[in-house]
Amino acid sequence: MKLVLKGHNERYTVEQSLMNLFPGELPVYGPVLPEDESWAVVDCREEGDTLTVTTELTCRGRTALRSYGTGLSGTAFDREGQRRHAVGACFYLAALEFLAGPPPWGMLTGVRPDKPVTWMLAAGKTPAEACRMLEETYFVTPPRAALAAETGGAAAEAAKGLGPRDIAVYVGIPFCPTRCAYCSFVSQSVEKSFHLMAPYVDALVEEIRAGGEMVRERGLRVRAFYMGGGTPTTLTAEQMERVLAAFGSSFDTSFCDEITVEAGRPDTLTPEKLAVLKDRGVTRVSVNPQTMEDRVLRAIGRRHTAGDIARAMELVAKYEFPHVNMDLIAGLPEDSAEGFRRSLDACLAFGTDNVTVHTLALKRGSRILQEGLSVPEPAEVAAMLDAAFPVLRGAGYAPYYLYRQKYMSGSFENIGWTRPGGRCLYNIYIMSELCSILSFGAGGSTKMVEPGTNRIERVFNVKYPAEYAARPDKCLANQRAFAAFYSRLYPGGANC
Ligand code: SF4
Repeated sequence: MKLVLKGHNERYTVEQSLMNLFPGELPVYGPVLPEDESWAVVDCREEGDTLTVTTELTCRGRTALRSYGTGLSGTAFDREGQRRHAVGACFYLAALEFLAGPPPWGMLTGVRPDKPVTWMLAAGKTPAEACRMLEETYFVTPPRAALAAETGGAAAEAAKGLGPRDIAVYVGIPFCPTRCAYCSFVSQSVEKSFHLMAPYVDALVEEIRAGGEMVRERGLRVRAFYMGGGTPTTLTAEQMERVLAAFGSSFDTSFCDEITVEAGRPDTLTPEKLAVLKDRGVTRVSVNPQTMEDRVLRAIGRRHTAGDIARAMELVAKYEFPHVNMDLIAGLPEDSAEGFRRSLDACLAFGTDNVTVHTLALKRGSRILQEGLSVPEPAEVAAMLDAAFPVLRGAGYAPYYLYRQKYMSGSFENIGWTRPGGRCLYNIYIMSELCSILSFGAGGSTKMVEPGTNRIERVFNVKYPAEYAARPDKCLANQRAFAAFYSRLYPGGANC
């Protein structure tokens, strides 16, 4: 879609809104020409403390014209935020004329739609006030606003238990047995990368040891540990033991409330690996079938059946982990509302205390897009989610964290559901950005969160396992950046 911005330069806001509201449309700039089929002119006029935005949007032979007025106040930074919101709101209102109905999350395009709720609740507002703000300011639909009030409330609650020096640790294992059709992650299938696993684990153990020393020196407390991927259980039992032992011996784990390991693919689970997890104090494993329909499993390139998942769950049950999560995805190729409901019922029958319901995100680089696999329409995905929510609530689960991704079917969300007492704190910490996350491994992103403010800094590890194993200097530089961040916050050192 051709974009013309007048009187402002809120390019990012308009582009994000465009891609969110018109999936598949890409922004193009330049004067509108007679042959252009779709274009938008977003015009801002400021008079004193009053801002009026006008959007003229033409698409598929029709034109919509909408205006949005607002007052400007506060600092230059505040006014910039007010201008950005007005531009996004005006574009949204014009776009609405072309949509089948209001998008579930209104004009919000970000990953964390419940973050403003957490801030409002922390500032003493009520959930009802937070809901009203989402509906009136961002045009969020009432069911999604209510959902955000619940998950934002869970985050506000979790924040109360964190001290200023509390952090979480993430370890990434970027290997998987095969590559799923919807995946765009850097994860390497084992057939291609088996030879990389041993040097990868050697480098990872060294990085964890160095990180442990740095964290002790800075007087930080690890409150949650999460090993994700990829599929961590692609490692051998001995390799998993080395990684978990490195964490246990390098960090003070006495304040660590939970240790989670993703055991995503049932075809990677063995009694030996589960025994290692149990012996190393793992409190939660996550077995992620994504679907319990064999047809869908084949379509997404999994090399296992629903029967394999059932056998894996039987095996997991023998080790009596305090918490078990299962992931499902709504909107996979070959799936239907009935199929998704059967998958959900099958997961609930295993009695896990956590179920995470994702919505398919159509990611560039995934086989779904590259091979043009057909996926259910957004209305079918909506039917899957609409049916799932009451079933989960009826079975005693409540939503406790949520996030969105780009290019999600129907512009929905991913939601973690838990039975009472089963929430995974790491998921809340990372999604609500409540504390720093120190990441180890290829592709890791270390996030430094300044307590009490919204200031966040990030550093990234190298992306691919071979480069990671060959370049420990990059990881150590990231750890120095992490240490420097805390030195600036607490110049007096560990006991300050
Ligand atoms: S298990 Fe996850 S990381 Fe691995 S290929 Fe599938 S989607 Fe990608």
